[in-house]
Amino acid sequence: MPGNIIQWFPGHMAQTRRVMKESLGSVDLIFEILDARIPASSRNPEIEALSEGKKRVVILNKADLADPTETEKWLKKLREDGCEAVAVDSKSGKGKEEILSRAKQLMREKLERNREKGMSRPLRAMVVGIPNVGKSTLINRFAGRVAAKAENRPGVTRNKQWVRAGKELELLDMPGVLWPKFEDVATGENLAMTGAIKDTILQSEEVAVLLCGRLKDRYPALFAARYKLSDEHMELEPYELFLAVGKKRGFLVSGGEVAEDRCAAVLLEEFRSGLIGRITLEEVPCGPSV
Ligand code: GDP
Repeated sequence: MPGNIIQWFPGHMAQTRRVMKESLGSVDLIFEILDARIPASSRNPEIEALSEGKKRVVILNKADLADPTETEKWLKKLREDGCEAVAVDSKSGKGKEEILSRAKQLMREKLERNREKGMSRPLRAMVVGIPNVGKSTLINRFAGRVAAKAENRPGVTRNKQWVRAGKELELLDMPGVLWPKFEDVATGENLAMTGAIKDTILQSEEVAVLLCGRLKDRYPALFAARYKLSDEHMELEPYELFLAVGKKRGFLVSGGEVAEDRCAAVLLEEFRSGLIGRITLEEVPCGPSV
């Protein structure tokens, strides 16, 4: 794992932990947002402990960018592990209603008790997730307005605020940064490829070459179709494959060399915006929970 990835993460974790602890008393449950393309890598490893027994709905966000077959497998796995899990596209709002219905299902006993006491107040959910996973976008989608600041820059800190999301739900938009886990190299690579880690931290050429290798292994047909790569190209090692993409697209500097920075920027942008196709980088593990 390159040390510079670790250094990027600001020292907010202790503060986040404290604010989360303080706020748990005022919420009914937790909405844990993961990136559907990398569900395990985008999960904060401390979330279980930090939740202190609060019920959680796991939200696989950016499902519009992920492979639907893989997303189904991830949902199944998460449910087998005892979580309520929902796939969502926060940009369009697809899947949003299911979050509320799963939350109501999880909290049905409490809702029932409240009803018996003649109390009707909205469910209160704390929204947590690593930077750039789509927390603000989801909150704004629920609120029907710009209530939370959506940032395309990872690691931007926000203030804690309550956001009303219709009659039945209130969301607590948490400040601070929840770290992803850094257990292995693949996790760091996944975070870099999806853009959860700033491109200035790892060389984007390095990340783009990793992406070429991953696409070749996991989605060769989509990759070949997008960049008009031949069967021979698909035999190449990742770096050579990256150069082949550059040549195909005409990203050349004088002298005919591939303009690697330009090629990397385009490849990463096209992957992250879904132009190559719906791609999940991380397979469901065979063993127990994520
Ligand atoms: P936060 O740091 O967790 O609050 O993440 P943001 O809400 O700021 O989102 C980070 C980036 O991901 C923004 O560019 C969003 O437009 C984008 N984004 C968020 N949710 C989705 C989604 O479901 N699908 C797609 N395609 N993009 C999303």
